[in-house]
Amino acid sequence: MNKEIQPEYKEATVTCACGNTFTTGSVKDTLKVEICSECHPFYTGKQKFTERGGRVEKFKKKYQI
Ligand SMILES: [Zn+2]
Repeated sequence: MNKEIQPEYKEATVTCACGNTFTTGSVKDTLKVEICSECHPFYTGKQKFTERGGRVEKFKKKYQI
């Protein structure tokens, strides 16, 4: 008798909304996430801050602050 009752953790492929894929331990084969370490604002703060900064600069120019 060799019944597998408990789900075993295996390597699951995680696909992020940004297109990044990585593997993690899970009972599922595939996982989907909307944010990962590659696109999380905490890790890619530069990109977001740049965008923000650009908007602020535009705003300042427009209203000559
Ligand atoms: Zn991502």
